[in-house]
Amino acid sequence: MKAGYYVGDYRYEVRDIPEKEPINDEVKIRVAWCGLCGTDVHKFQGKNGASVVVPPIILGHECSGVVTAVGPECKYFKTGDRVACDPSYGCGKCSWCQQGFPNFCLERHGVAKGFSEYVYPPEQNVYPISDSLDLETAAFTEPLSCVIHGLDLIQIESGRTVAMYGMGAIGSLMLQLIKYSGAAEIIVIEREKEKRELALMLGATIAVTDQEVEAISKERNIDYVVECIGLTQTMEQAIKIAGKNSKVLLFGLGEPDQPVSFNQFEAYTKELSIYTSYLNPYTSERAVKLLESGLLDTKSIISAELSIEEVGDELSELVYSRKGKVMVYLSKEH
Ligand SMILES: [Zn+2]
Ligand SMILES: [Zn+2]
Repeated sequence: MKAGYYVGDYRYEVRDIPEKEPINDEVKIRVAWCGLCGTDVHKFQGKNGASVVVPPIILGHECSGVVTAVGPECKYFKTGDRVACDPSYGCGKCSWCQQGFPNFCLERHGVAKGFSEYVYPPEQNVYPISDSLDLETAAFTEPLSCVIHGLDLIQIESGRTVAMYGMGAIGSLMLQLIKYSGAAEIIVIEREKEKRELALMLGATIAVTDQEVEAISKERNIDYVVECIGLTQTMEQAIKIAGKNSKVLLFGLGEPDQPVSFNQFEAYTKELSIYTSYLNPYTSERAVKLLESGLLDTKSIISAELSIEEVGDELSELVYSRKGKVMVYLSKEH
């Protein structure tokens, strides 16, 4: 079977590797679609994603597909089931897992590397999807589960003013969920005009540039700021524009060696809370339910549909990734 590897040194390669049969409680899934994530781009650029990268590794972790075989210990799946995957799980035994934080697991296991014709995650990482949900949309399960976790942390009260940075794939999902949280006003900050238009279409009250937002923040109290870019500059500004009693969620993945600085005194007088969000503990089921509900527009976010061969060029050029979500097809089933 074919699999798309990051082989180190800014190089991506599609390799032919042996296909296998599932053992224990593994579920063998013929991958239909897999989203290209910002962390895949990070890995390709020689940086770490959510964890340390040692090439060669198969990229992709946002996949959906159809079950083609199950291991002898599987209880809940059978051939033909349509599913989405959670790409990692905790060991279940370490002190963090014991406390209900698999995202901090000391031996977190990565499974379901989706730029591959087949994946073999254990049953606990597989989520059934309804017939009404198409497999391309189902591949949004993982990014959406991360967004849900981030929003769980800040607990947005209805009737508040929320500012959000960045209309990439994550921001576009985040914005729609913020809308459903009952925000009275949503200010989206985005440099590109086309994406500001998308923001207005997906529920923003206003969409402005980072230059314009500072004046706005002086006129009204921004109660929540959600940063979905990960640039030092926008993260610092996010903390600056936050109002009194405000919560700031730094969701975008920053550079490991670039600290963010802010004025402690200013933050003190505003009694600011700063949050970060790491992975997606126990939120995949809710992500599937939300996608099944049809409440979210994922189609407008997709900027390209590429084969795993075409991913190589995309990783080095980022032509489509800059515009939205790149969906990679394997079997291409719907
Ligand atoms: Zn991802
Ligand atoms: Zn653990």
